[in-house]
Amino acid sequence: MSKKLYVNASFFTADTRAWADALLIRDDRILYVGDEATARRLGNDAQTVDLGGRLVLPGFVDGHAHVIGTGEALGQADLSGAADPDEIRARLSQWHRERTDAPRILAMGWPHGAIPGGQPHRAMLDEQFPDIPVYAVAYDYHSIWLNTAALNEVGITAQTADPLGGRFHRDADGQATGFVDETAFHGIVGPFLDELVDASTSAINLDRVQAAYRKTGVTTSCDMGFNETDLETFLAAERAGSLTSRLKAYWRINNTGDREQNLAQVARAVELAENVSSPLLDVVGVKVIIDGTVDGCTAVLGVPYADGSNADPIWPLDDLAPVVAAADAAGLKVAMHAIGDEAVRIAISAVEHGIRVNGVRSRRHRIEHLEVVDRADVERLASLGITPSMQPVHVDPLNAPFWRSQLGDVRADQGFPWPWMTEAGARLAFGTDSPTAPHPPLPNMYMAATRKSPSAPAVVPNVSEFAVPLAEAVVHGSSDSAWTCGAEDEIGRLRAGLYADFIVLDTNIFERPVDDLLTTSVLMTVLGGQVVHQADQ
Ligand SMILES: [Zn+2]
Repeated sequence: MSKKLYVNASFFTADTRAWADALLIRDDRILYVGDEATARRLGNDAQTVDLGGRLVLPGFVDGHAHVIGTGEALGQADLSGAADPDEIRARLSQWHRERTDAPRILAMGWPHGAIPGGQPHRAMLDEQFPDIPVYAVAYDYHSIWLNTAALNEVGITAQTADPLGGRFHRDADGQATGFVDETAFHGIVGPFLDELVDASTSAINLDRVQAAYRKTGVTTSCDMGFNETDLETFLAAERAGSLTSRLKAYWRINNTGDREQNLAQVARAVELAENVSSPLLDVVGVKVIIDGTVDGCTAVLGVPYADGSNADPIWPLDDLAPVVAAADAAGLKVAMHAIGDEAVRIAISAVEHGIRVNGVRSRRHRIEHLEVVDRADVERLASLGITPSMQPVHVDPLNAPFWRSQLGDVRADQGFPWPWMTEAGARLAFGTDSPTAPHPPLPNMYMAATRKSPSAPAVVPNVSEFAVPLAEAVVHGSSDSAWTCGAEDEIGRLRAGLYADFIVLDTNIFERPVDDLLTTSVLMTVLGGQVVHQADQ
């Protein structure tokens, strides 16, 4: 049994008593957090660590992330923030020059606003990349852009049918343009690429994201939609003792259009939740994607887009309700991606159905994103105990103009209304949805507290009245995210009995101008009492 006493720091607990002077841990748990005299008395046999007057926070719990995808994206060509197709091509070439033996170019993060009309085309890539396949995922992770070599490699032709809930965009003559949406991406192109990822590549991706998490202070992430390959990678890492952050995992369920097949996926999740439940790796629920994104015009809206179009849900209520009821009956937590207001209503109605079928009791269902939401529906979801799970990074003003042009000013001015959630009494969870946005939590907190862009702080904020106080943002990104996974008695706060997961920052961000968040770094990350990251000082 080993005790450690941490002193000489400001400890922000994210708990009811927000501040403490000392933290005493025994093995992997917190024994005491509070005043230093008591901590010293309880820890008279402890090793004392002087933190030099720094700030301590609970480790961040990323409420919504795609863990292996983040590791994968960290190894791909980064197209985020690219201004136009020229810049995209230049970055792809640069990446390829550095990896001349790569069999294909994999890229991530192009913004829709960088493509004239938001519609990429294979021809924009073919001249520069005639032979090597190029796969470039959009920043919202709901579309992918292929050149002709990639279309040929996957085998997409004019005859390839669009799947339910997805689309291969086509030229007038029926040829695929290389712009691929939603289930055509996630159900066809994605699995093709996944097949190419062997176990060792997947393990490298997991190692890569964990290194990034250690450095940036993420001690737990809610993995939003893992599959069998991810599971094997997680299990192998756990067996090898190489996990340095905790995973709360949600099993991805796809709408097959067939009720029995959909319920069979729930049954698999139930089996996993029973068998995969350790302090580091815990299957807690299921994930469904009801609609797409605003940028892709695939989010389902109550009132059409500015151009008059609208989208159909990937999960109509009739398909979703039995799945939610079955998962709910088994005690699984259901996470429902719903970006448009109409999709949010489908999600709420599905939970209401689950409550009708299974009776009233405590449950932790959640809706992901809620970028466009009707205030009346916020009251509804709050009264049902549904957690809104939102991503401050998605309000980045640099991405806002395209988003705004799709919706018009009235809806854009009510986009991402975090304070509505807490005012209605809902528990708001914050995450990043990485790799659709960068994973580091401190810039995410910056956007929560300012609605400004971390890469361009001088740009006008995106609806600044929806910013939240920094301390609240940190609570949403730790304690509340833990709560939504049902893990509030394990992680997310500095509190006696919980795991000793915490981080030490070089700057007390609560006492400095908020822009200092952008230069603040994580000096130390501790997971279950073990120091997993220590910066060179
Ligand atoms: Zn996501």
